[in-house]
Amino acid sequence: MNFITRVKRFINEYLFNAKWCCNACGKEIFNDKYFCDDCIKKLPFNDKSVCDHCGRKVATATPFCSTCKERLLSIDKGRSAFVYDKPISYLIQGAKYDKRLYLLEAFADYLAPIYLKNYFNADYFCFIPMTDKAKKKRGYNQSQLLCEKLSQKVNVPVLDCLEKVKETNRQAKLGRQDRLKNLEGAFRVKDRKNVKDKTLLIVDDVTTTGATAEIVASALKKSGAKCVYLLAVASVPSKSGY
Ligand SMILES: [Zn+2]
Ligand SMILES: [Zn+2]
Repeated sequence: MNFITRVKRFINEYLFNAKWCCNACGKEIFNDKYFCDDCIKKLPFNDKSVCDHCGRKVATATPFCSTCKERLLSIDKGRSAFVYDKPISYLIQGAKYDKRLYLLEAFADYLAPIYLKNYFNADYFCFIPMTDKAKKKRGYNQSQLLCEKLSQKVNVPVLDCLEKVKETNRQAKLGRQDRLKNLEGAFRVKDRKNVKDKTLLIVDDVTTTGATAEIVASALKKSGAKCVYLLAVASVPSKSGY
């Protein structure tokens, strides 16, 4: 992003409605959308072949990706609005690490129709919690804020039913198995009474391997949840492609 674009973005964020400026390239827009017409065309919508289970992009049409194939999983069904690629990947990181929280409104707007289209019919939305220490350090939990935004749009209440009780190592470079190991015992259901026999939908920003959501969903199922869905802004495509 060049200097002029950065200045424009700053002015738009702090002085004007962020919608007047394309969230990807910084160009002024008058279309009441979040992106200019050129950038909308380039957005990596996850609308081609996806794994029927986790919703990650697969190379060819097939019921399940390599991660989900022949495995019993706690997530009943996952879907995502975008493939984790530019510019969405930058925007997600901006919301997560750079306090560009106005982006969450745009993300929730893209998630709402996917929620409705998939007939998820959740009793409650929930979010991936952070440890108190981590939340204090960042100042917010973007998964929680996103969850609240989506909740307002489709009128499903948020249930703050989980807590993260163990700090985990950064997962960026770990594979799925190592991620699962790293996350063991990290999450706890703190509201078992309200979780029992309920259909819950976890709202998150990115599904990388699905390990975090899987661990959380497994804790929810052990507490009696009937059904656990996952809806993410973006997901990383399945590597081996079947
Ligand atoms: Zn643009
Ligand atoms: Zn899958």
